[in-house]
Amino acid sequence: MKSGIPVEKNQEVDVTFTDLTHEGAGIAKVEGYTLFVPGALPGEKGIVKIVKTKKGYGYAKLIEIKEKSPDRVDPPCYIYDQCGGCQLQHLSYKGQLIYKKQVVQDVLTRIGGIKDATVHDTLGMEDPWTYRNKVQVPVASQNGELIAGFFRKRSHDIVEMDKCIITEETIDEVIQEVKRIAKTCGITPYAEQKHRGTLRHIMARIGVNTGEVMVVLVTRTKDLPFRKSLIKGITEAFPQVKSIVQNVNTKRTNAIFGNETQVLWGRDVIYDTIGDVKFAISARSFYQINPSQTKVLYDKVLEYAKLSGTESVIDAYCGIGTISLFLAQKAGHVYGVEIVPEAIEDAKKNAELNQITNATFEAGQAEKVIPAWYNQGIKADVIVVDPPRKGCDEALLQTMIDMKPKRIVYVSCNPATLARDLKVLEAGGFRTVEVQPVDMFPQTMHVEVVSQIILKEEAGSR
Ligand code: SAH
Repeated sequence: MKSGIPVEKNQEVDVTFTDLTHEGAGIAKVEGYTLFVPGALPGEKGIVKIVKTKKGYGYAKLIEIKEKSPDRVDPPCYIYDQCGGCQLQHLSYKGQLIYKKQVVQDVLTRIGGIKDATVHDTLGMEDPWTYRNKVQVPVASQNGELIAGFFRKRSHDIVEMDKCIITEETIDEVIQEVKRIAKTCGITPYAEQKHRGTLRHIMARIGVNTGEVMVVLVTRTKDLPFRKSLIKGITEAFPQVKSIVQNVNTKRTNAIFGNETQVLWGRDVIYDTIGDVKFAISARSFYQINPSQTKVLYDKVLEYAKLSGTESVIDAYCGIGTISLFLAQKAGHVYGVEIVPEAIEDAKKNAELNQITNATFEAGQAEKVIPAWYNQGIKADVIVVDPPRKGCDEALLQTMIDMKPKRIVYVSCNPATLARDLKVLEAGGFRTVEVQPVDMFPQTMHVEVVSQIILKEEAGSR
């Protein structure tokens, strides 16, 4: 036994699970020592085998469950135990929604020091399957055959995937068809180690309200052999496909996309609608992946923004202007900022498409552009932020504090960075009032949250 560690590698121990980590793994204690065990649920008892020990905690594998949680269900996916995509299929959907609320409550108090905000029950889906409107699969070679699927947990090995049950069915079939055609033509799969081969990723996205599909082929080389056969095969099998795009990524990198994108067939965008607003979406642009829950999320943003029709609104991290245009209908003017230039092109197109004239967009870093706007005299009554997982940049938080908007609506896909940023905003004169988790990613550990934050001076006149 290593000093202070009560278990050692390969040892089997009886444990009781008390909790779940934010990654969806079960937590058990052995003489006060914490073990993380994927696949186990709170309230369960079982035998685990120690995989790895570290100073304060260790990892173990679930060998046998002796007492099951009433929330345990059979995971319906045939590769659930290998694929790294979902983490919570073995937990009932009701249990997942409760878990996600607890994650939010936990980080708000522990990291954010926020105790008096109301955390609502997670808004979930009626049917939490086949919801993803986008799927992107890495391509590789296995025993000389082209395969495509998802990365195995914590690895770069690919688990061949024939069907993904959280993905919308048409695009799931499109992926299988592209794979089949690529195999038949003899297109070479990308070999990560040697940095050879042609096809790196296949991506498919659907606008579920229009039915339009885009296929993106990410290649290592500019040259794409058999492109005519690919285009013919895809368009003949799927008349819903309106756009086939090639993206060239020549680098040795984990990033999926390279800088060069060209249309191989059809348009450079597909269209979709959210509520009454129509959107053009291009290959490189971010677009929320759960369409029905996006409407729920954006309606919540609108509710928390409490617009009367005259407000000046900033939408930071605006993507293709979805939230901006949703809010523009109820605001005086909306200013959107986003780092991906193609997304800003889409946002401008989308404003025109919907004849919305009170929204302006600028490409750049939110933490640079918004302070510059502030210096030019642009002041927002309401600021909406929807940053990536790493949260808001400090410079942006400081500008928000200086600008003193009446309200901030913070949309977050990472409760931990949300809590960190809320702490800064609270110290800067704001108060977090309400927090609403929305389940955008059923079956996975991912949690999305909308929070309403008000200027403390405003609290009385709310
Ligand atoms: N609000 C949008 C997009 C949210 S995703 C929607 O609901 O669709 C976060 C967006 O932030 C992505 O489009 C990403 O490209 C963008 N982004 C990432 N870092 C940024 C930064 N520093 N400044 C501005 N935008 C950024």
